Amino acid sequence: MNVYDSTRMADVLAPLGYRAVDSVDAADMVILNTCHIREKAAEKVYSELGRINIVRRRKEDAGDKMIIAVAGCVAQAEGAEILRRAPYVDMVFGPQAYHNLPQMVARLSRSTGAVLETDFPVESKFDHLPELTVESGAVDGCSAFLTVQEGCDKFCAFCVVPYTRGIEYSRPVGDVLHEARRLADLGVREITLLGQNVNNYHGEGPGGAAGGPWGLGGLIGEVAHITGIERIRYTTSYPADMDDDLIAAHRDVPQLMPFLHLPVQSGSDKVLKAMNRAHTAGDYGALVARLRAARPDIALSSDFIVGFPGETDDDFEQTLRLVERTGFVQAYSFKYSPRPGTPAAALGNQIDEPLKESRLARLQGLLAEQQKAFNDSCVGRTQSVLLDRRGRKPGQMVGRSPYMQPVHVTAPDELFGTVADLRIDAVSANSLSATLARADNKGAAA
Ligand code: SAH
Repeated sequence: MNVYDSTRMADVLAPLGYRAVDSVDAADMVILNTCHIREKAAEKVYSELGRINIVRRRKEDAGDKMIIAVAGCVAQAEGAEILRRAPYVDMVFGPQAYHNLPQMVARLSRSTGAVLETDFPVESKFDHLPELTVESGAVDGCSAFLTVQEGCDKFCAFCVVPYTRGIEYSRPVGDVLHEARRLADLGVREITLLGQNVNNYHGEGPGGAAGGPWGLGGLIGEVAHITGIERIRYTTSYPADMDDDLIAAHRDVPQLMPFLHLPVQSGSDKVLKAMNRAHTAGDYGALVARLRAARPDIALSSDFIVGFPGETDDDFEQTLRLVERTGFVQAYSFKYSPRPGTPAAALGNQIDEPLKESRLARLQGLLAEQQKAFNDSCVGRTQSVLLDRRGRKPGQMVGRSPYMQPVHVTAPDELFGTVADLRIDAVSANSLSATLARADNKGAAA
């Protein structure tokens, strides 16, 4: 979502003459769009700011100005701390306030102190964002993100999101479809619908409030009707919010890719309860069975936290058992990181760092085995791959399989930005390599 937000910031700033550049040295303004989800991400902000400030001082010596801004969830959670530790920062604003960037820049030119989002009224940014543009770099290639939902009211005991992104909000269906059509017009072939809790989407339908809100399954069905959109994905989902319509969409909407990121966090019911998750390990298993009944080839990904306060060896073993039972094609796993202001950070039974580390290593070993087994099983098969990035050498391209695997291929330039049938030849560390399934792949690409 920070990637999406960053592209929208570029759109907001485009009318002022700003455009995205590749290096800090070339920039008149640097915006650090930050993440607060774990301590490591938040701490990186300060080291990065130090480096940027060196460039800024060098520029100032040469008579050039550079604006430094901190955006995103670290700005939201610890704005005052940022200004204390990095007093040279010019602007601090959270994830819901970047539509005010032009006014912030204007105010900065008149003021001596830093400009804060609290200087501006609280509004929904989505009501104030401009049309997407190509020029600002906001649409770069044939795969794009589209935020449909933001914030979270679940209050998992470990998580800062409700305190940083704010309460749940769903954009109206009409606005989402308008933006999706615009993306299609700009050449986008794959849209990933985004939300912190995307499958609890409940946006106002085209008929207004009277018709009742739409769920994500219905929204996906409409996006699938947009000419040019060949692939749809969504992330991230909360298991207890997977409803019948969304599961049916996996069966009925061919554009909806057979891949789902469904964070389970733990395999122990005791830990899940302490985390304030609304599912048990058994619920998760039943849900996976329903998804596989709807779409037998669906590939699953997940998030895991090891070392949540009070997690015993037995709890952790249950997480390993859940992984073995379920089978994931990829996953993210983390050591529990106490976040300020969250209930779990105040619990007494915190787990020692070395124990967290050894548990994480075991879990990641098992997940890596499953990922490798899945990748190996793809060798010799033909997959449709959206070729959305260029590789280092001429003719090399990288794309995504339906199951989110990166696939490398050498292909004629006209296939760039299309879905091509590729035969998977080999597996390397985290990606697949392939050749065109037919010499005249144009048929598949059309
Ligand atoms: N609603 C999203 C949350 C995104 S954060 C979701 O359910 O996926 C992505 C992942 O970061 C979470 O799923 C969780 O596994 C991890 N995470 C969140 N807070 C954490 C913390 N305090 N310590 C360690 N990992 C955490």
